[in-house]
Amino acid sequence: MGSALGLEAKRAMDAGELVPDEVVVGMIRDRLTGDAAQNYLLDGFPRTLPQAEALDAMLAQLGAPAEHVLLLAVPRDELIRRLGGRWLCKRCGRSWHEVFAPVQPGMCGKGGDCELYQRDDDRSEAVQKRLEVYEQQTAPLIDFYRARGTLREIQGELAQDEVYEQITQAITGA
Ligand SMILES: [Zn+2]
Repeated sequence: MGSALGLEAKRAMDAGELVPDEVVVGMIRDRLTGDAAQNYLLDGFPRTLPQAEALDAMLAQLGAPAEHVLLLAVPRDELIRRLGGRWLCKRCGRSWHEVFAPVQPGMCGKGGDCELYQRDDDRSEAVQKRLEVYEQQTAPLIDFYRARGTLREIQGELAQDEVYEQITQAITGA
């Protein structure tokens, strides 16, 4: 969206800053007042209590409250294994994983091999740091949404199709 909010978000990102919460909430509001109002999925937001409170207030105003909040719970050891094994290709952008999506030769373009690198925040020290930030800033959202009766706990350490099944059940009530 080429909105004033979008430009503000771009300015912040170009400057290497975090996009202010009110800008993100404003962009979601703009999007939800369009055709997405009936069905929407937010991923990676909110991550802090102030963000959740601002989002909640805005969604209440729109009359489009979040019906289901999915918590994909994964034991810490497994998280470290998953995050630490992720590699990206410098040329095609493909995402590989040492355990879940092992590299196949000749996948980059016409027979060339992918040129792999690991994102700075997927390196092990950075993974520890991300988990600490999660515990401090994001984990409190579990009680916030549990109190609202919207929290749906998913066993995220299971296989992909089992996780998919649990999510489907959680949001359809089947
Ligand atoms: Zn590649």
